[in-house]
Amino acid sequence: MKVKNLIVGAGLAGLTLAERLANVKKQRVLVIDRRNHIGGNVYDYDDGGILVHKYGTHIFHTNDKKVWDYLNQFSRFYPYMHEVKAFVDGQLVPVPFNLNTLSMLLPHSIAKDIESALLKHFSLGSKVSILELQKLPEFAFLSQFIYEKIFLHYTLKQWQCSPEELDSSVFERVPVVLSKDNRYFSDTFQGIPIQGYTQMCENMCKSELITLELDCDYKDVAHSLECERIFFSGAIDEFFDYELGELPYRSLYFEFMRFEREYFQSNSVINYPNNYDYTRIGEYKYFLDSKTPHSIVSFEYPKSWSRGDERYYPVPNAASAAIYEAYMQRAKALKNVYFIGRLGEYKYYDMDKVVARALELFESLS
Ligand code: FAD
Ligand code: UDP
Repeated sequence: MKVKNLIVGAGLAGLTLAERLANVKKQRVLVIDRRNHIGGNVYDYDDGGILVHKYGTHIFHTNDKKVWDYLNQFSRFYPYMHEVKAFVDGQLVPVPFNLNTLSMLLPHSIAKDIESALLKHFSLGSKVSILELQKLPEFAFLSQFIYEKIFLHYTLKQWQCSPEELDSSVFERVPVVLSKDNRYFSDTFQGIPIQGYTQMCENMCKSELITLELDCDYKDVAHSLECERIFFSGAIDEFFDYELGELPYRSLYFEFMRFEREYFQSNSVINYPNNYDYTRIGEYKYFLDSKTPHSIVSFEYPKSWSRGDERYYPVPNAASAAIYEAYMQRAKALKNVYFIGRLGEYKYYDMDKVVARALELFESLS
């Protein structure tokens, strides 16, 4: 079968390209996904009035107005501002670690002295990575405290390695914040699609020029398709049959539980850096403020990845960057194949970045 544009993966990367190619370029697009639903990792479903995110809590946030305006064509966003609490020393404290966290976890006089020292060194509102703070001898006590209480044990659970073995960008995602802003993200635009991510994704692929095939693995159909262009949002090492080695990934296991009570916990997401085998518990009804007599929560357990498991996270470090670079060199020989999305680009992208990259690629196409 002849195909003008083949898109592998019906996640946000694939659907953004499909939507643009169909609605702007008026080209035919075939989108395939090996899963039985669209949306990729942002897929959600209704459970008695609560939209549950099948692959863990997803909160949209961006400073990129272009991406925000683009997605708002397909869904209105409920103005939800995300806050995360961590269970530390028997208390629920704000994460990222900020001046409120400091005053909750340390005795008043110590916290006040540290706060004054911090605000002499940094301006109010600045953000500093824990790895940077550790380099400053005058903050040795504080950085060791934050490292121990917030980062070390969570990271050991999540990545099965210590923070030093990962790219520093992982920790820039959750900086120490020198303000009393308890939000997890400081982005201008934040929210949850009002009818859910799945509905937003369905709205993105409404064009008659888009054909969607679910339960369809690229490897099973590649031989029967003659494609002018392929946009591949699966794993790049799998595309090349692992010929240059296997890229490392981390996987997850979600244990969903239903409770016949209005709320299970006092916040949408509670992190457990130092207790239990799971890293966090998410309670879904908070995102759209759903009023139901029951609640659905997920316990998120990190898991090592082996072939056949879902790939949730690339593992950013020097060794994986070298393998990815080798695949990219290999990919250059293929003139009509574009690798997109979190897995195709092997980047720890959030949703907005995946959409931004797909829009950029679309604009560069002839
Ligand atoms: P995916 O959503 O993974 O889609 C790729 C699709 O390709 C999948 O559906 C897969 O089945 C399909 N596929 C792969 N290989 C093949 C093949 N060979 N044949 C056919 N189909 C194939 N981002 C945020 O902005 N905010 C958050 O709060 C947030 N929370 C997250 C929480 C978790 C636990 C995780 C894991 C990620 C989170 N993210 C969050 C990141 C977000 O999920 C991603 O940025 C985004 O969904 C990636 O989109 P994608 O299209 O690149 O990939
Ligand atoms: N992190 C941590 N403690 C926390 C939150 C995050 O150690 O309470 C570290 C951990 O290594 C984690 C990384 O920061 O994997 C990135 O956190 P983020 O919340 O962005 O992870 P994601 O939501 O993408 O799983």
